[in-house]
Amino acid sequence: MDFNLKTNEKGNLTIGGVDAVELADHYQTPLYVIDEERIKNNYKRLYNAFSSQYSDFKMFYACKANTNLAVMKILEKEGSGIDAVSPGEIYTSLLAGFDPSRILYTGNNVTDEELKFAVNSGVRINLDSISQLKRLSKIPEAQGIEISFRVNPMVGAGHHDHCITGGPLSKFGIMEEEAVEVYNLAMDLGFKPVGIHTHIGSGILDPEPFMLAVRTLMDIAGRVKQGTGIKFDFIDFGGGIGIPYTPEESRLDIKTFAEKITNLYKDKLKEYELGKPTMCIEPGRYLVGDASMLLTRVNTIKQSYRKFIGVDAGFNTLLRPTMYGSYHHIVTAKTPQAEPTQKIDIAGDVCESGDLFARDRPMPDIEEGEVLAILNAGAYSFSMSSQYNSRPKAAEVLVSKDEISLIRERETFADLLSKQNVPVRLLK
Ligand SMILES: *Cc1c(COP(=O)(O)O)cnc(C)c1O
Repeated sequence: MDFNLKTNEKGNLTIGGVDAVELADHYQTPLYVIDEERIKNNYKRLYNAFSSQYSDFKMFYACKANTNLAVMKILEKEGSGIDAVSPGEIYTSLLAGFDPSRILYTGNNVTDEELKFAVNSGVRINLDSISQLKRLSKIPEAQGIEISFRVNPMVGAGHHDHCITGGPLSKFGIMEEEAVEVYNLAMDLGFKPVGIHTHIGSGILDPEPFMLAVRTLMDIAGRVKQGTGIKFDFIDFGGGIGIPYTPEESRLDIKTFAEKITNLYKDKLKEYELGKPTMCIEPGRYLVGDASMLLTRVNTIKQSYRKFIGVDAGFNTLLRPTMYGSYHHIVTAKTPQAEPTQKIDIAGDVCESGDLFARDRPMPDIEEGEVLAILNAGAYSFSMSSQYNSRPKAAEVLVSKDEISLIRERETFADLLSKQNVPVRLLK
């Protein structure tokens, strides 16, 4: 994977046609820069791959990957739906202009208040437990509504370590063995079950685990249909389609992937006489992950027992390397194609020794003051950022055909304190 880096006549890295060094100078760092065209292209590529195989197909953007309103608006205009996992995401999606009918709410460990909020918002509700079903049945406004269930298809235990939101250790979904019983219970409680859902994990670059989940969910759907007579309006396979983060990984061949899955889907629809339900997927990372980079400036080069490149972003800005040990490719914004001359550690500015973006990373010569671009920072990046160490959150900029828009202002010190109250007695 060469990450398709683009440069301008100065040799500087560009994103969406805009000079990364100039963006960093103008908007300061750390700065998230998002490429609108890339998001649109990702959406179209994935949508076309599936819909050309099976026309009744819908995508629900898993917005926890990136909840910036502008990003959500781009996908709203593309025709996407939303996978929301919290009331805050429902609220944001509605504000971004998504009709409630295009929002599927898949909460886990939700409170009664959260259920009420979802019901009153008119979004579609995907239940994660029998407890949720029973509590939903006590909400007057929820009487008789359409619902679906998230099922844990027991896929991946021991075989595919990607499949971590399915399998015996996962907290998500109802058990496959209880599916028939749970759908029957839902009907007894007056609900109209219309869908079945699963989401097995994230960052999948190999079709096999996903295929296994599709096969298993379709078998479960078949059993539920036989055991309850339910006619499914939709079957949802969740998200999880990965993107390459390391130069060694290659892109998933989306056309072949879509073909394999839709063929299996169609075979299973026939096998169980399931009719022609809408086929749904919920991509998050695939749509936005490679559409953004994080620009950060080198402020310190230190030769200690090791050599450290110190930058002005940290795990407060981009948590993935510290939280998951994730690799993010890093280039220098003024010489993005330069050959490596050294192996160095790139460290953030948070007071924790785990605050490292890279260890022993081959990099070209780097000077204090220059800008580094951390690639593939569009998913689970800003949305996981925090104010740890009392650092205001970074700004976000959207670029599209040379047009630059500040879509989230850099936070200020006042933002750090905006919800705090000091009791009067302590001020005396
Ligand atoms: C996180 C999540 C997704 C999206 O996962 P990606 O790996 O970003 O595609 C989809 N569905 C549900 C229910 C999720 O929780």
